Amino acid sequence: MASGPRSWRCCRKDRAVAGSTEAIPAAAPPGPPLWLLAELTYRCPLHCVFCYNPTDYTRFQPELSTREWVDVLTQARALGAAQLGFSGGEPLLRDDLEELVAEAHRLGYYTNLITSGVGLTERRARALKQAGLDHVQLSFQDSTRELNDFLTHTRTFELKKRVAELIKAHDWPMVLNCVLHKHNLPHVDKIIEMALALGAEYLELANTQYYGWALVNREQLLPTRAELEAAEAVVKRYREQIGNRCRLLFVVPDYFEQRPKACMNGWGKVFLSIAPDGTAMPCHNAGNLPGLQLPNVRSQPLREIWRDSGAFNAFRGHDWMQEPCRSCDEKAKDFGGCRCQAYLMSGDAAAADPVCSKSPQHEQVVNIVRRAESATSSWAPLVFRNDQESHRMRAAAVDIE
Ligand code: SF4
Ligand code: SF4
Repeated sequence: MASGPRSWRCCRKDRAVAGSTEAIPAAAPPGPPLWLLAELTYRCPLHCVFCYNPTDYTRFQPELSTREWVDVLTQARALGAAQLGFSGGEPLLRDDLEELVAEAHRLGYYTNLITSGVGLTERRARALKQAGLDHVQLSFQDSTRELNDFLTHTRTFELKKRVAELIKAHDWPMVLNCVLHKHNLPHVDKIIEMALALGAEYLELANTQYYGWALVNREQLLPTRAELEAAEAVVKRYREQIGNRCRLLFVVPDYFEQRPKACMNGWGKVFLSIAPDGTAMPCHNAGNLPGLQLPNVRSQPLREIWRDSGAFNAFRGHDWMQEPCRSCDEKAKDFGGCRCQAYLMSGDAAAADPVCSKSPQHEQVVNIVRRAESATSSWAPLVFRNDQESHRMRAAAVDIE
C-alpha cells in the first residue's frame, strides 16, 4: 500500500520551503485545544474488528495514575480546553473514572463518556451522575444480537440494551453510535428503529474509517457504492419521517468522496488526544506516522507540548504543504486532508490525502473501491482486536524495521 516512508521534518522552526530558500515568517501562537480526548486505557473487554485504537496498543503502558490524569485535566483546562471525552478502550475499566469525572466537573469541563457499556452498573451510573457527568455515548455494533456479538467477539448485545435504559433512567442525553460497514449497512433501518425504541436523542451512523484494526480488515469491511447509497437513502427517508425526535448523523466513508475530510479540523488546531501512557497526539492515530517524536505529559508541560513541540507544529497551518495542496484554493477548507491516510497510501505524510481527486495517488483509492465491487471469494478471515494480535503486529512491525 504505502511505498515506504520518505523523510520529512516535523518542526516548523527548522523547516525550509521545498525547493526554495524562502524564509518562513514566525507563526502566530495556536488557539486553545478546545477538545480534549482522554484515552484512559486501551484495555477493553470487546474485540471489535474495526477498533480505532492503534494495532500496537499494548505498547502504550504503563497507564497514567489518577494524580497524573488530574494534572493533565488541570493543565488542559488552563490552556482553554472546554469539552472532555473520556474514552479508551473501555474507560469504565478504570475504577477512578468517577473521581476523574468529578474533578473535570469541578474544573468546568463539559464531560462525555464514550463507552461500550460494559461495566456501567446502576451503582456506577449513580456515582457518575453525582460526579457531574454530562453526556454518554454508547456504542452498538448492530441491531441484531448475532452480528453485534460476532463483530465484538463477546455476548454484549443484551447488556448494551440494559445500559441504554440506565442512561435514560439517569436522564443523560443519549447518543448511540454504530460503526457501519458492509455487514451491517443492510440493517440501517433496523438500527434506526432500535435507536428510536431506546429513546436515543442522537444516532451517529459512522461509516468505518480505515485506520488501525479497520485497515487490517478493510477488504472484508468496505461496502460497495450501491450498498452505501441504499443505506443513505434509508437514512434520508427516516430523517423526513421522524424530524427532530432523534437526530441521525450519517458519516460517509471518505474513500467514496472526491475531497478529503477536514481531518481533526486542522492538525494541532482544536483537538488534543492523550493516550493511556501520557503520549500527547494531535490526532489519535498520529502514533502511526514515522519520524514524529510524540511528546509525553510525563516529561513535558502540556502548554509546551501544545504550543512548541515538533509533533504539534508538524502540519499546523499551510506552510508544510506540497503541491497540489500548496496552491489549492480549497486548502483552508480541508487542510489537505488526513496526514495518516496520506502516509498510509503515498508513503509521505506531507502529501495530499489520496482521497482527493487532485492527488497523484487518487487512483489507489479508486482501485480499492473498485476491488470492493468485485471482491467475493478472496476474503481472508476477520482479525479481531486482542492483545495476542496486537503483540503479533508489534513484532511484525519491528521485523520490518
Ligand atoms: S472499538 Fe470496540 S474494541 Fe475498540 S475500544 Fe471501542 S469497544 Fe473496545
Ligand atoms: S489538493 Fe489538497 S487542499 Fe486541495 S482539495 Fe485536495 S487535499 Fe484539499
